[in-house]
Amino acid sequence: MIPRKSASEHTLRWKKEFAASIFGAQALTESLPQLDIDSEDLNKIDALFPIQIPSGLLAQSSSARRQALLRQYLPNAQELVDLHDDSNDPVGDISATQPSGVIKKYAHRVLVVTSSTCPVHCRYCFRKNYPYAKDNPNTHRFESALKFCRDDTSINEVILSGGDPLSLEDELLEYLFSAFSEIPHIKTIRLHTKFPSIIPKRVTPHLLSVLAHSKLNKVCVFHINHPDEINAEFCDAVLAIKKTDTVTLNQSVLLNGVNDSAELLAELSHKLFNAGILPYYLHRLDHAKGTSHFRISSEKTAKIMQQLKNQLPGYLVPKLATEIAGHTSKLY
Ligand code: SF4
Repeated sequence: MIPRKSASEHTLRWKKEFAASIFGAQALTESLPQLDIDSEDLNKIDALFPIQIPSGLLAQSSSARRQALLRQYLPNAQELVDLHDDSNDPVGDISATQPSGVIKKYAHRVLVVTSSTCPVHCRYCFRKNYPYAKDNPNTHRFESALKFCRDDTSINEVILSGGDPLSLEDELLEYLFSAFSEIPHIKTIRLHTKFPSIIPKRVTPHLLSVLAHSKLNKVCVFHINHPDEINAEFCDAVLAIKKTDTVTLNQSVLLNGVNDSAELLAELSHKLFNAGILPYYLHRLDHAKGTSHFRISSEKTAKIMQQLKNQLPGYLVPKLATEIAGHTSKLY
């Protein structure tokens, strides 16, 4: 049991770091006056998918490598370009959303969109246009999702996604872990999260206690695209999560100008492995509106994958995954 005062101190620490993020076009212009983008375009982009970047990310060096990392999070005028195959629902999430709010696309597992909040707004996000619920997450919000899972005995795995599920309060996560563990056919709970790599302080003792005390199989899938997103504080957080008997994996997205080289991806796999994380998926970019500047041709993708296989042992090569709306599985 965590003393209440100590738990709230940990919560305050990560929330303080989150609150110090840069929110919106004006704050970004003040923090990064050298940003090469027309102010009218910047405001339009901000209105379509709000700018949100932890200030610490901008406060570091301006090397080319750093600029590649930041390209994931900095607005780009090309977000205003629409290609004919761009979509607001590129992987069919909206059409697969049940009245209960869960997304059911594949056999035996469901995805619960827990929150619209993320530690950072990734400009390539496939859910950047998702119609998130507007109310604050609370136990009442999840009643129908829990009922859906109780009623469908074919479901054995629940994925807490978002937004980012670690934007929820630890007490609410504790409630969800407990409620799902009371459903006899649910065996596994999975968290898809970017929080620990962006704000490692989010991995609080209370969260670790929730993981450690759950009798479900637990899987934590991080979302890291660039090796420089792995630092000592994140590695400590991963180690603490692993001590709770949680399986730790990573999924990346292959992004033009960010991680589109076999050398960089091989470095990422090695750094993940050294941190105790196995590379799991390398996603092809989903064609969400406003993300065309991150696209990579099929030919270049195939070349990178072959070079990656040449450099790495098989267990460090992530599966190249494509998601097509309406399919009963991802395509590998
Ligand atoms: S953290 Fe995930 S859900 Fe949130 S903006 Fe980034 S890619 Fe999208």
